[in-house]
Amino acid sequence: MKVVMKFGGSSVASAERIRNVADRVKVTGKGHQVVVICSAMGDMTDELLALCADASKGLEKQVEERLASIREMHLAALAATVSEKSVRRQVLGVLNVTLSQLEKLARGSTVLGELTPRSRDAILSCGERLSNPLVWGALLERGMDAVYMTGGEAGIMTDDRFGDANPLMEVTKFQVKEKLSPLLAEGKTPVVTGYTGATQSGDTTTLGRGGSDLTATIIASAIDADEVWIWSDVDGLMTADPRLVPNARVLREISYEEAGEMAVFGAKALHPRTLEPVGEKGIPVRFRNTFKPSDQGTVVKRNPKLYSKNVVKAVALVKEVAVITVAGASMVGKPGSAARIFDVIARSGINVLMISQSVSESNISMVVARSSMEKGANALELALLGQGGVFRKILTEHDVSAIAIVGGGMRSTKGVAATAFEAIAAKGINVRMTASGSSYQNLSLVVAEKDAKETVRAIHSAFHLEKLNSHSG
Ligand code: ASP
Ligand code: MG
Repeated sequence: MKVVMKFGGSSVASAERIRNVADRVKVTGKGHQVVVICSAMGDMTDELLALCADASKGLEKQVEERLASIREMHLAALAATVSEKSVRRQVLGVLNVTLSQLEKLARGSTVLGELTPRSRDAILSCGERLSNPLVWGALLERGMDAVYMTGGEAGIMTDDRFGDANPLMEVTKFQVKEKLSPLLAEGKTPVVTGYTGATQSGDTTTLGRGGSDLTATIIASAIDADEVWIWSDVDGLMTADPRLVPNARVLREISYEEAGEMAVFGAKALHPRTLEPVGEKGIPVRFRNTFKPSDQGTVVKRNPKLYSKNVVKAVALVKEVAVITVAGASMVGKPGSAARIFDVIARSGINVLMISQSVSESNISMVVARSSMEKGANALELALLGQGGVFRKILTEHDVSAIAIVGGGMRSTKGVAATAFEAIAAKGINVRMTASGSSYQNLSLVVAEKDAKETVRAIHSAFHLEKLNSHSG
């Protein structure tokens, strides 16, 4: 079998954990061909972002302190990860190249007091370019024929939207296959930095926060892997956030579409585009807990088992959102009103999570991130009000939360909405807005922020999700 094993930041947060990862890869490597993808150690990416912020403000002292601590931490991790001298020397060589590039970039931008998106990505890529060599060293020390490379070197080519670059899929798949397949055939184990790619002209890019998952699925698709295993510190994808719903359960099997709906709504640890490359080919993705290696976790695949009584599989809460409503009675029957509204929003670079229009057509409401509510409302006011009175008013509500009810079985089952609304009404909670995703695998609603947690719990128990047995399905 060909397996892509991806380890998140928590799984490589210390020397001890890196040694653990290496042990696990070694065991897997006995029977399978393995590609390893790792994130930066722990919260390193956040550290690097803080470094960028300080550098662009020209804060020399802070920058030097941060650089010193990043250097020290990785060198200490190397000492505690790899004991064989020749291997240590090899890894040190790679770390030193990355560290000195990082230092040059950070110092350069501190002098200038500014940081271009391109330099920022070069800095952000260093987290992965420091953690992966450590894993590589640990594998070498265990006698594996491991090969370290960056995402760009592995063939991941992207556009130049620095910070949130899009892989150019066709070239990327071709290049990655050319690069990695021969190595695998020779019994080698590639260790590839997650999160990073390169433009056609060779500039380093990053794929957006949490992008290492995407690296893993792109590579899996390119080499026609049999499975992707994503290791993190959670048990898998769950029926709800266990901090909100203590009896939430791990989902054993779900479809790409269901997992996608959960990702859109911010379910933990999933980059929104993660499943695209593998969904097309039906390559299963397993979400597993590094600290519980014998657990099977959640597998995302085609045609998952339908839980007999559970058409609904998960309830997600989306915090920090707001509703913008465009009101205007004379919008009724005027084609193009909605298009104009969403054009304005799109031009402001605002992402819309949910849309609903009342049957009377006199109002259109949308849910956006709370941080972009003001901007969106202002843009709409400027663009739409006072134009012959088609749009009368822009209203905002900031004290709200969105809740998504997700499940593939909803498409063909009656009464899902009724069950949900009854459960919510029984708690005396008022639903302010609803929408159903076009996939019909998701029913979303908006309630007052203060009622959100209780709403999630009420829905979870109305669909008996706590009884979902993670082992028998
Ligand atoms: N290190 C990056 C981040 O924290 C990418 C990843 O972990 O997937 O966002
Ligand atoms: Mg990370």
